[in-house]
Amino acid sequence: MIVTRFAPSPNGSLHLGHAFSAVTAHDLARDKGGRFLLRIEDIDGPRSRPELADEFRRDLEWLGLEWEDVPAQSSRLETYRAATELLLEQGLLFPCTCTRTEIEAARPRMGDDGAIYPGTCKGRLLDPGKPAALRLDMDKAVAQVGEVVWSDAMAGSHPADPREFGDVVLVRKDAPASYHLAATLDDAADGVTLVTRGRDLFHATHVHRVLQELLGLPVPRWHHHELLLDRSGNKLAKSRNSPSLADRRAAGEDGRLLAEQLRLHRFPDDISLSAPTS
Ligand code: GLU
Ligand code: ZN
Repeated sequence: MIVTRFAPSPNGSLHLGHAFSAVTAHDLARDKGGRFLLRIEDIDGPRSRPELADEFRRDLEWLGLEWEDVPAQSSRLETYRAATELLLEQGLLFPCTCTRTEIEAARPRMGDDGAIYPGTCKGRLLDPGKPAALRLDMDKAVAQVGEVVWSDAMAGSHPADPREFGDVVLVRKDAPASYHLAATLDDAADGVTLVTRGRDLFHATHVHRVLQELLGLPVPRWHHHELLLDRSGNKLAKSRNSPSLADRRAAGEDGRLLAEQLRLHRFPDDISLSAPTS
């Protein structure tokens, strides 16, 4: 049974790119009699706006999609804590009090997800008064896990190589889990078998695959779909040219028709689909 999900963060209204993502995930499941889940990724504390979760549901309904709600991240903190405990016991996490400015001052190498953490806090005595994040010791993690692969429906099989991410944050200073930890645990808890999301998160899967191994989680398959691009070739964000789904809904646009157009890859003039790359 195929289980896919749409996992928006409630820090802004959904736009056409989200609609494309939701329709893609929905259809991949529904075409095979599977399940399509909606998960609200509201771990972002102060940036989360709870009222947007209902707006998202109205958007999906308007697009003519059917889904099952699964618990939002804010109700899963215990799972995140238990997994953190497990990684701490394995000696794979270390506390880090660095600020963004300190990390930049160390002139770090740039990797797949911005600056690669330069290791400043590894083995240094930390000021207990300063808030600390927990980072994964990536070299240790990779050594422990050995060679594992992951499989993408669009781009084939890949050996998990998260080293371009460096020692990623798993527990944030201001939240009990980072995106990487929360999404990996949630997909496992929700029984997701085909993680469907945009190509902008393709490389993050290297990290997630290693986490699955460390935490003994089931291994799904992935489907990283192409991205909708604006006129300048950037990933679509809400803008004057691309109103939010809520705006379109309020203006009386037909959501089911829009979903059909997206299925046929018929986009408004100023929007194009990214080339399939890996
Ligand atoms: N919450 C993420 C976002 O809105 C999606 C994460 C995922 O699909 O894995 O960009
Ligand atoms: Zn540090």
